[in-house]
Amino acid sequence: MAQQGSINSSKINKIRSFALILIFAGILLMYGGLLTRSTEWLMAIFFILGLLAIVFSCVVYVWIGTLSLRAVPIVCPSCEKPTKMLGRVDACMHCKQPLTLDKDLEGEELDTKYNKRSYKKKAKENNTKS
Ligand SMILES: [Zn+2]
Repeated sequence: MAQQGSINSSKINKIRSFALILIFAGILLMYGGLLTRSTEWLMAIFFILGLLAIVFSCVVYVWIGTLSLRAVPIVCPSCEKPTKMLGRVDACMHCKQPLTLDKDLEGEELDTKYNKRSYKKKAKENNTKS
């Protein structure tokens, strides 16, 4: 997964829309199976793929549930609505305002790169130098 550039939507929302797309894909695949019912093996493939997509989206929904439990609930300073944060840097679910839990990053241009291990390592190196 290559995530670049600034944050434009909160992570939980992104995963949620991904799960929704999966369900639709599954339904479409099963519908495709109905259209090709004259060819038995093709119908079977469509149905299995559709079922897999739906099962996978259920897994993703469960995963969102556990992520939400781990997420830190905060009140967005920008729109003053309650939102949840995943990782050190995330965006508000309501107004897309980039948020951070890390005081060191406050005021800096927030980027998803701050969640990556390499950045943390670099920050650690900088700390030991100074
Ligand atoms: Zn907000």
